[in-house]
Amino acid sequence: MIEHDVMIVGGGLAGSRAALEIAKSNPQFSVAIVAKTHPIRSHSVAAQGGMAATLKNVDDTDTWEAHAFDTVKGSDYLADQDAVAILTQEAPDVVIELEHMGVLFSRLPDGRIAQRAFGGHSHNRTCYAADKTGHAILHELVSNLRRYGVKIYDEWYVMRLILEEGQVKGLVMFHILDQRVEVVRAKAVMFATGGYGRVYNTTSNDYASTGDGLAMTAIAGLPLEDMEFVQFHPTGLYPVGVLISEAVRGEGAYLINSEGDRFMATYAPSRMELAPRDITSRAITREIRAGRGVNLDGSAGGPFVYLDLRHMGKEKIMSRVPFCWEEAHRLVGIDAVTQPMPVRPTIHYSMGGIPTNTDGRVRGSAEGLVEGFFAAGEAACVSVHGANRLGSNSLLECVVYGRRTGRAIAQYIQTRKLPEVNEQRYLTEAEQQIQGLINQPGQYRIAQIRQTFQDCMTEYCGVFRNESSMQEGLAKLQEIRQQAQQIYLDDKAKSWNTELIEALELQSLLIVGEMILTGALNRKESRGAHCREDYTERDDVNCLKHTLAYYSSAGVDIRSMPVTINMFQPQERKY
Ligand SMILES: Cc1cc2nc3c(=O)[nH]c(=O)nc-3n(C[C@H](O)[C@H](O)[C@H](O)COP(=O)(O)OP(=O)(O)OC[C@H]3O[C@@H](n4cnc5c(N)ncnc54)[C@H](O)[C@@H]3O)c2cc1C
Repeated sequence: MIEHDVMIVGGGLAGSRAALEIAKSNPQFSVAIVAKTHPIRSHSVAAQGGMAATLKNVDDTDTWEAHAFDTVKGSDYLADQDAVAILTQEAPDVVIELEHMGVLFSRLPDGRIAQRAFGGHSHNRTCYAADKTGHAILHELVSNLRRYGVKIYDEWYVMRLILEEGQVKGLVMFHILDQRVEVVRAKAVMFATGGYGRVYNTTSNDYASTGDGLAMTAIAGLPLEDMEFVQFHPTGLYPVGVLISEAVRGEGAYLINSEGDRFMATYAPSRMELAPRDITSRAITREIRAGRGVNLDGSAGGPFVYLDLRHMGKEKIMSRVPFCWEEAHRLVGIDAVTQPMPVRPTIHYSMGGIPTNTDGRVRGSAEGLVEGFFAAGEAACVSVHGANRLGSNSLLECVVYGRRTGRAIAQYIQTRKLPEVNEQRYLTEAEQQIQGLINQPGQYRIAQIRQTFQDCMTEYCGVFRNESSMQEGLAKLQEIRQQAQQIYLDDKAKSWNTELIEALELQSLLIVGEMILTGALNRKESRGAHCREDYTERDDVNCLKHTLAYYSSAGVDIRSMPVTINMFQPQERKY
């Protein structure tokens, strides 16, 4: 059996930052990261626009309180304000620390870190490395992991969390290369497994964003928080869904409908294109529904709107957002210097996740914590984003809460012994599960079931939602789940069996989808990214609370948890 003091699942920004903190705190600790991709292929590497912090390099009137207020207002007052205060107070420090580790941020002419405008932020506070910020940060973190001796298991798939009597004791994983199954025991396990964009049919997320960590947590009997809040990014490149960063609008690009109007004037006159994402995504969807979208031949009534950069000029486009120019050029043949880009909303981010306190300790219920289990980053819900995340606050969350969780773990393991685990039992069960899938004489292909499922989620639980369509969606989902029991695998290989991995990921997607739909059906109000056509107003009297959803094969049980409000009282949210 493999043993470590700490086992971290996920090599993105959150997992890497935590591992580094633990390894630096005591070289004697045995710290390991396991990831189904190579760590530098984690989705964090794709982050483009930047990371918010009140460094005051561009705007010296900015304060952490202003950043906190913007974040809470952006969250539609569902964020926990103690967690937001920590996020915004620690932000300048973590950026400077990254800079000292070697991250190459873009600069002002005087050499200080440059900062740009971003949606929902009242000051220019987003630090960036052109439009490749995640790449710049993750590469530096991962090379530091090597320097501090963190053991990396790359291309291992974690398939089960070991939870017994309220204590997390380890996990079960297999090597994608040769299907070798291993049981790992550890004094602390941390999940930093990222988001679940692949639950939907059009997403900015990578293929590995399948919500495995969320599903494993739910299967173990622990709750997930606020899963109904799914972020649609306003500007996915049509038709592929790949992200065109908000940095493009931060640098001055316009959103234009088929009539040539900057339609955001109708929806958010004071912020225009830099309104928060929930508002901008709804505005685009409404324009398209009203027939003011554009077709590929330029005629009206089509499925997208234009993102227009032409007035920004070639030099600015190529120096500030070169990667977005390249994406549009390579994927849809548009030269953004002379042509507008076709965009529409794409699934981007998960506001909900594994509930934690501000030290990254996982909650087993509204009142209690789970021994030995931590989480941070997009997989976690601490909750700093509430019902809607502001752009450039997620990289920040990964680094602030990755560091804090690392510190808390380093403290926690000092007094904890390695738990006892029945290795043989877990090995046998895992091998049976894998063989069961490989030998299953089913009738459905994985891709077919996955596509039907993704279309179902997109149709019944998208930008706009209502009771009857979500009920229909849940009924369809039950059918899809039945069919998913009857998938068959063509690939029987013992090495690099990617079909087997897709089969396991499909199980994660289905569980996460059911949690999202049930949470959305249960929340009878409109708040942030959750917009109901049958309950169009926010309802602070009945619904200003977090959802805690417990999964079982018989269905999802919904409970709630209070929101921490200690700085800003809820107000009407207008921009
Ligand atoms: C295109 C794009 C651009 C973005 N731009 C920005 C931006 O400019 N600013 C901002 O603040 N945010 C941005 N975001 C959001 C932000 O990048 C993510 O929320 C954040 O990077 C998530 O980091 P993470 O460490 O939580 O997880 P990830 O980076 O997603 O890493 C997850 C890790 O978990 C591992 N893993 C998952 N399941 C398993 C399993 N079963 N077994 C083993 N390993 C597993 C993966 O291999 C991976 O290593 C962007 C997101 C996207 C998709």
